[in-house]
Amino acid sequence: MQNSDSDRWSSHPADQAMVTVGGRTVAVRRSPSGRIPQWAIDEALGNTDDPALWRTGTYPGQPLSGRPVGRPRGIRPWRRWLVIGLSLALLAGLYFTPALFDRYVLPAILPYLPGSPVPPSGVEASDIPLGQAPASTGSLAYKLQESPDPGQPYAAYDPCRPVHYVVRPDNAPPGADRLIEEAVAEVSAATGLRFVYDGNTTEAPSEERESYQPDLYGKRWAPVLIAWSTPDKSPDLAGDVDGLGGSAYAYIPGQPYVLVAGQVELDAPDFKETLEWPDGHAYARAVIMHELAHVVGLDHVDDPTQLMYPEGTGVTTFADGDRAGLALLGSGPCVPQL
Ligand SMILES: [Zn+2]
Repeated sequence: MQNSDSDRWSSHPADQAMVTVGGRTVAVRRSPSGRIPQWAIDEALGNTDDPALWRTGTYPGQPLSGRPVGRPRGIRPWRRWLVIGLSLALLAGLYFTPALFDRYVLPAILPYLPGSPVPPSGVEASDIPLGQAPASTGSLAYKLQESPDPGQPYAAYDPCRPVHYVVRPDNAPPGADRLIEEAVAEVSAATGLRFVYDGNTTEAPSEERESYQPDLYGKRWAPVLIAWSTPDKSPDLAGDVDGLGGSAYAYIPGQPYVLVAGQVELDAPDFKETLEWPDGHAYARAVIMHELAHVVGLDHVDDPTQLMYPEGTGVTTFADGDRAGLALLGSGPCVPQL
C-alpha cells in the first residue's frame, strides 16, 4: 500500500509483451514469453510453409501461362474476359479469405489448440452487467490508471462477467479469510462488479504471471490471485510496503481495453504485526481494499483523506474520491469478443 511501486502491474505498455492471435491481443505484463505459438497458427492454417505464400498465392498466373506449345497463341476476346474475370475472382478470394479466416475461423479454433495464449472468447459473458455501480459521489479526488490506449480514458473489468479470485493461503495471518472476504465485499459494493471466490490455489505470485493458465484454472482468463507473501519472496514488499496490486489487460483492435487478470501480494509479517494493534483488523482490511482498488484500475492520489493515498494515514474506508473512481471503473464496457 505504501509506495508508488504498488502500481507496478498497472498499465504501462512499455513493460508489456503483446500477443495478437486471431485478431485478439493480449498484453502480458513484463512477460518474456508473450509469444505467438507459430506452430499452432501454422497448424490452424493447415500450412507449414511460408504463410505469405498462402496469402498471395501463385495461382492467378497459371491460367495465362502453361499453355501447351503449338496451340494458337491468341485468345478469343470472350475467353480473355473470362480468364481476366476468373483471375480477379481468384485474387479477390485470396485477398479476402485470409482476412475472414483470421477474423472468424482462427479465433474460433485457436483457443482449443494446445498452447493457445488466449481462452475461448465470451466465457461467462452475460448480455447485461451483472451488477450496477452506485451513483457517483461527484468527488474528483481520484485518479484512474493510465489507459494503454491514448484514445480510451481508462481500462476496466468487463462488468458483464464475474471477477473470479483465488487465494494462496501460505503464510496467511489469523483471520485472513475474513479480511479478504470483507475487503472484496467493499470493492464489489463500490464498483457493482460481481466477485466470485474460487477457493485456494497453489499458484505463487509472479511479475510474469500469465493471464491465461488453462491447466490451473480451465479455459478462461486467470482469476485475480491474492497471495500472502514475505519480503524474502517478494523484495518489492521490503520496508514499509504492506501490499502490491494491479491487473493485466487484453483487447481486440477496435474494441476497448479490458482488465482480465489481477494480482495482489500482501506482506504477511507486516499484517501479523498490524493485526495486534487495537484497530488492526480495520487497518489490515483497508490495505487489502487499497490493493484491490489498484486491481480494478485506480491509481494513487495526493489527497491524504482518500484510501488511495499511497501511505497509511489512518483512513480505513473508501472516501468520496475513491468511491467516485470505483463507481466509474464498475461501469466499463462489456466486451464479449474477448
Ligand atoms: Zn498503492
